[in-house]
Amino acid sequence: MLAEATLLEPVPCALCGADDPQPLRWLDDLRYGTLPHPVQLVVCRRCGFRYLTPQPRPGTESAFYPSDYDPYRRTTLTARARRLLLAREVRDLWPLLAPPRRVLEIGCATGELLDLVRRAGNPRVTGVEPDPAAAATARARGLVVRTGSLEDTPLVPGSYDVVLLQHVLEHLERPRQALERIAALLRPGGVAILWLPNGASWAAAVFSDAWMGYDPPRHRSVFTPATLRRLLAETGFVVVDERHEWHGLEWSWGLRLLARKAGKRRLERLLARAHFPLVVAATPLAALAAAVRRSGRIRVIARKAADPPVPSGR
Ligand SMILES: [Zn+2]
Repeated sequence: MLAEATLLEPVPCALCGADDPQPLRWLDDLRYGTLPHPVQLVVCRRCGFRYLTPQPRPGTESAFYPSDYDPYRRTTLTARARRLLLAREVRDLWPLLAPPRRVLEIGCATGELLDLVRRAGNPRVTGVEPDPAAAATARARGLVVRTGSLEDTPLVPGSYDVVLLQHVLEHLERPRQALERIAALLRPGGVAILWLPNGASWAAAVFSDAWMGYDPPRHRSVFTPATLRRLLAETGFVVVDERHEWHGLEWSWGLRLLARKAGKRRLERLLARAHFPLVVAATPLAALAAAVRRSGRIRVIARKAADPPVPSGR
């Protein structure tokens, strides 16, 4: 492992720009063990935004994304279950995704979601993905996918009706600049659809540092509905829908990560084998959390506002 100083650096608040963090808790990379030591989750005293500091220095991300990183795999039972859930999402969102709309996905990994949109009947789909192997897998499926990041990939402004970000925003170094670029890529009235963890959820409170939504240091930001709405409003969007996921995925993962943190390897293996039944068993609890809008995984639809926002100066 490289020296820590070359991999991690302290950062200011990505929402308001202040450098006034209040420590909340230490987080370790319980899932993949890539961190040399725990990093701090903080809350900005000025605006309430929660974020990690220090964070991976730009360009060092590959040190923190192992080759078996979950979104890049697609062979397990969980992956099949995820595909079924994604297919439901596509049916649910079809009024926004149907042709002739042009759909762009940022961080499309192996192209699972774009493939489902295409199979449902809209071939006008494009992806951007920074991981070369994942992007190549997506292209092997016949999808148009550029290898690169949102920042450095040339895309035509105003040319998309829908931009999809599936568990992506929390990974980005500069979420404000990313949403500003997405607003510029959308036609007037176009929508961004974002899936992301909810830091104000029951699961985040119950599992504390073992909550899967933290996933440090890959997740740099911990959004809540309030901080996400503020950032979207300041980057030219109006939130038109906020849906809370109802399945028990994060509860099963939370138990596994608690066992791993406690060093109980046999229990962890047992829980891993029981992952799918545990997800099903936890679903009533997850559905209750969703009913009171405290789910740990949310989907937000934001429409590009007709009037441009007042420039933030950042
Ligand atoms: Zn702040």
